[in-house]
Amino acid sequence: MDFNLSSQDEGFRQEVRQFLTDNWDTKGYDSHSINVRSYDFATPEARDIDNQFIQKLVEKGWYTMHWPEEWGGEDASFGKQFVYMEELAYANAPIGHPPTNVTGAIMLHGTDWLKEQFLPKMASNDIDWAQGYSEPNAGTDLASLQTRAVEDGDDFVITGQKIWSSGSHFSNWYHILARSDPDAPKHRGITYFAMKFKDDDGNMMPGITLRPLYDFFGTRRWNEVFMDEVRVPKKYVIGEVNRGWYAAMTVLNFERTSVDGAARHIGSFDRFIEMARKLKMNGVNVLENPVTKSQLADLRVVLEVDRMLAYRVAAMQAAGEIPQYEGAMSGWRVLHTSKYWMWNTFAKILGPYAALLKGERRAPGDGMYGTNYMLSQNESGGGGGIALGANIIAQRGLGLPR
Ligand SMILES: Cc1cc2nc3c(=O)[nH]c(=O)nc-3n(C[C@H](O)[C@H](O)[C@H](O)COP(=O)(O)OP(=O)(O)OC[C@H]3O[C@@H](n4cnc5c(N)ncnc54)[C@H](O)[C@@H]3O)c2cc1C
Repeated sequence: MDFNLSSQDEGFRQEVRQFLTDNWDTKGYDSHSINVRSYDFATPEARDIDNQFIQKLVEKGWYTMHWPEEWGGEDASFGKQFVYMEELAYANAPIGHPPTNVTGAIMLHGTDWLKEQFLPKMASNDIDWAQGYSEPNAGTDLASLQTRAVEDGDDFVITGQKIWSSGSHFSNWYHILARSDPDAPKHRGITYFAMKFKDDDGNMMPGITLRPLYDFFGTRRWNEVFMDEVRVPKKYVIGEVNRGWYAAMTVLNFERTSVDGAARHIGSFDRFIEMARKLKMNGVNVLENPVTKSQLADLRVVLEVDRMLAYRVAAMQAAGEIPQYEGAMSGWRVLHTSKYWMWNTFAKILGPYAALLKGERRAPGDGMYGTNYMLSQNESGGGGGIALGANIIAQRGLGLPR
């Protein structure tokens, strides 16, 4: 497998780096691409910083570089996309493209009308999507979902409850799975919808109620979403009626690959070392402790393995192959590293100082290390989670029985 990128791609890397130096400043927020795993996820200032930067990517023409030309993209090569994603992730900049999951589903399964409705607005970052898959009794076993969609004239009428919809209080659109045929086998009676969440004045659409869910620190990250006879016109079905599961699975396969995750971790690692060089505990610089040096060396090896797994996925995509268990391995490793290695290594090194939160005068990194350690404990859940990735590796990679 050839992991070398072309000289053009490497040249582009320098261009992206320069652009980041000139244009990206977190202004002290850990906006972490406004990812639900960021501790500044719900901070309006951090979201503004992210949105301003994304606007620059839009103007530069990079935000949709991987899209087909007919939708304003440039059909960029995988090498170019990979370099771009790697550099943005390393700098902890916003994700750099519209949400891959729903974009993939609309492009591959949406009608021309649906594409015209959404893609131009997504390309200019004018839509904030929330994802409505999980329900109280349908998480890992998503196909058990019970939210009902009943046909009525030109509409579907949707009633039910979703849970864990990340950042949905900021969103104006919702992509949601609902059961349209309760008598069909469970994977076959599901339809995928784009649902308008808020009107142009920012008010929730009739029949939709959000109930906030908070993380350990009291930050509102998710919502339960209650839908009471919400009318969704049929033209907003993504893919075919009762075949929504298959359109949504395209989405999840995109979500699980996480090729930028390793680079994001390496950036966090380098910034930790930079911070620790100046940090004294009990009068001694923390990096002089031999145990700390050994822990950091171990961690850096793990991060390099993760990066190689991400390169493998990118090399396969560049060769026109579709990664399956390889993508699951790369995605699984990033979650695993975050939860079991990286943030807890940082927190251990900082000891009781890791418990100090944002705004505390003596909190290293303004409280981001301890907070991100706590948040990393939910890595086993988001995006289908560690267990699901391990199942894919076991079944498709190792050929073990289901
Ligand atoms: C940070 C975060 C963000 C999220 N954002 C969204 C979002 O925007 N939209 C959305 O729809 N959902 C979202 N979710 C929900 C997420 O998709 C679910 O939490 C996930 O699918 C797991 O479902 P569950 O919480 O019901 O756990 P359960 O499915 O009840 O699982 C409980 C435990 O059992 C294990 N388990 C279950 N089944 C198996 C199996 N077959 N094999 C092995 N182990 C198994 C699981 O790994 C887990 O440890 C988010 C979750 C998190 C943590």
